[in-house]
Amino acid sequence: MLGQWLDWSLDGQFPAASKGVFASGTYHLHAPGILELSPHTSSQDAHACIFSAAIHGNETAPVELVGEWLSALEAGAVTLGVPVLVILGNLPALKAQQRFLTTNLNRLFSRELTAEGKEPDRARELMAAVDSFYARHSALPKLHYDLHTAIRDSRYPRFVVEPFAESTTDATQWQWLAAAGMQAVLHQHQHSWTFSHYSKHYHAAQAFTFELGRVAPFGQNDMASLKPMLALLTALSTGQHPESQPASHMLFFQVHHELIRQTDAFQLCFAEDTANFSQFEPGSLLAQDGEAGDFWVGDTPLYVVFPNANVEVGARAALLVAPIT
Ligand SMILES: [Zn+2]
Repeated sequence: MLGQWLDWSLDGQFPAASKGVFASGTYHLHAPGILELSPHTSSQDAHACIFSAAIHGNETAPVELVGEWLSALEAGAVTLGVPVLVILGNLPALKAQQRFLTTNLNRLFSRELTAEGKEPDRARELMAAVDSFYARHSALPKLHYDLHTAIRDSRYPRFVVEPFAESTTDATQWQWLAAAGMQAVLHQHQHSWTFSHYSKHYHAAQAFTFELGRVAPFGQNDMASLKPMLALLTALSTGQHPESQPASHMLFFQVHHELIRQTDAFQLCFAEDTANFSQFEPGSLLAQDGEAGDFWVGDTPLYVVFPNANVEVGARAALLVAPIT
């Protein structure tokens, strides 16, 4: 069942029984794309883990990664030692191989959400699934890894975004991320209503948004470069200590400014295919907007991450970041 779950989810097929057993645990399919795994024997040193993928429907590498791990569990090659909630975020968009259908799901994860429509309804369903999973396992420390790939090339193809919240990130997380092949870390400077932010802000979970290379269709992802990441997910799910490397193997960046598209008359003043973490020198013109006017780089260089001029009005068109020394 576990190995076929992804295909079934895509086909809109559901198993006859929503609950069942595999070698080291039981599964419970709560809703389409929401699967909880419970171990027969719990590890001492466990997190309640959430692994989510396909919050953006065209980002397939994380779906393949989760699929490999589920197949290993089903084959008995990996022994489940902790509760895990596995989430495929936007199934209709995944089926259509589109980032989203009506609006970007990954900026809707707020308890104040009032919008209606497919993505807002799914955001509410996923927030409720997270709340009830963490409530069922309230004795355990919480963890949420939300897995993505980026739209464009990057000077650091594998990096994580640490959401802004009151709770702090454990130092061991950086060591695990370094060992999992992450090359850079981006600290958010203000609340941003992403899925990983939801778990950090409302549940004080250890939570990150992962960018695992560049968007590609199923079967065309560079899975070899994600082996260390697969090893991290596997170790967490067994309840064993993941491998560690010094955090200094990664570069750390802080967000300085968010470019927001405030009007239709908005443009970014650099090439559309500019790679993530490209550097712009003081005095560079980065954006023009009908309301906000021109944005120039000030006294120190800035690096551009997630540039996208074609977002909805009111949404983020780029993050401007600088390294932490
Ligand atoms: Zn994404």
